[in-house]
Amino acid sequence: MISFWEKQTFVHSHFLIIGSGITGLSTALSLREKYPTKNILVLERGIFPSGASTKNAGFACFGSLTELISDYETLGELDMLALIEKRRRGLETLRSRLGDEVIDYQQHGGYELITESEIGALEHIKSMNTRLMPLFGEPVFSMKNEDIKKFGFDEDTVKALVYNPFEGQIHTGKMMRALLKLAAEKNIQVYTGADVESIEDDHRRVYVKIKDKINDEITLRSKKLIVCTNAFSKKLLPNLELNPGRGQVLVTEPIDDLKIKGTFHFDEGYYYFRNIGDRVIFGGGRNLDLEGETTTEMQTTDLIINNLKEKLENVIMPNQPFKVEQTWAGIMAFGKDKTPIIERVSPNVTVAARLGGMGVAIGTAVGEQAASLVYQE
Ligand SMILES: Cc1cc2nc3c(=O)[nH]c(=O)nc-3n(C[C@H](O)[C@H](O)[C@H](O)COP(=O)(O)OP(=O)(O)OC[C@H]3O[C@@H](n4cnc5c(N)ncnc54)[C@H](O)[C@@H]3O)c2cc1C
Repeated sequence: MISFWEKQTFVHSHFLIIGSGITGLSTALSLREKYPTKNILVLERGIFPSGASTKNAGFACFGSLTELISDYETLGELDMLALIEKRRRGLETLRSRLGDEVIDYQQHGGYELITESEIGALEHIKSMNTRLMPLFGEPVFSMKNEDIKKFGFDEDTVKALVYNPFEGQIHTGKMMRALLKLAAEKNIQVYTGADVESIEDDHRRVYVKIKDKINDEITLRSKKLIVCTNAFSKKLLPNLELNPGRGQVLVTEPIDDLKIKGTFHFDEGYYYFRNIGDRVIFGGGRNLDLEGETTTEMQTTDLIINNLKEKLENVIMPNQPFKVEQTWAGIMAFGKDKTPIIERVSPNVTVAARLGGMGVAIGTAVGEQAASLVYQE
């Protein structure tokens, strides 16, 4: 049961956003730019943002060569370029909004490890560079086979290395903390521990029900609602065309004389690793059990973590001893293609979800687009 004061003060908002990941906070910040005085409230079920935005690997990337070849085949040239441009613009806005130092942005470049089965992709470097020229103004992909030895990769497995100088890396935790800080400075309220059970739009306003340990159940009201719950959206919007996809990750203890520096992809983006200082973060392997990994359960499995360790030991750092410090899992959202869903689902409810594996890059631009859909009315 809530009091008169609570009802007067905490229940009504003009804009209500569910989910305090990069999409939810970016949407709130974009709305604030347009509406300096409106009441904006973000609801988060965790005690801090607890979705993919705080569990990812911190790649500031827009797609490796083999991923872009596959995007070109499924989306066609125009949609592929539009998606890359959204990622590029999203990263640019994120960096200028928060500052490179604050998010620990470092541009060491990105690499793709090419094994025997992907060697055919190398023939596409020239044509892909031509397609990307209008966006980047210079060639994006080039060969850097001489670095295979420098990084210490297993030369029997890694047959070629493709370099992309435009790729960078961030400190994911610092980025999310900075977004929360900026939201607070802009007078955007964030309620944590607020797990939304259901939403209802009666065409005049939106009602959002939250289970609460103290007050049993609370119903918040708002003029406009934006659902930014990504992989967890089906609980609130069961008809949305998306599937969860779990990503499992490990981080090593500090490694003496670590040779790896930059961001690295292999197996068409199914595996990814990078340095963070003198440690390595390594994730992926979802393709080992695609059905089992179509889940919102934030658990790691022996199958995938053991596979990551085995790849580190035999392919990535065959000559460098390491110890795993920690493992974790996070949940992404996938659909029939890699484009996010940004649409109005009822007069006062908009959804911005299905960000896939490059949400760090695209999240800011998705937030901008979701906000502009709301204020188009
Ligand atoms: C392991 C892993 C590695 C990745 N690596 C990279 C990478 O290196 N680079 C990159 O660009 N992208 C990466 N991604 C993808 C990227 O992290 C996501 O695309 C992006 O963070 C999605 O942001 P979001 O805000 O849409 O969703 P989320 O961050 O998932 O935010 C959704 C929020 O909604 C909250 N929520 C859910 N349901 C409710 C509810 N009912 N009530 C209230 N709150 C709710 C959740 O707790 C969560 O905080 C990775 C993802 C994973 C899982």
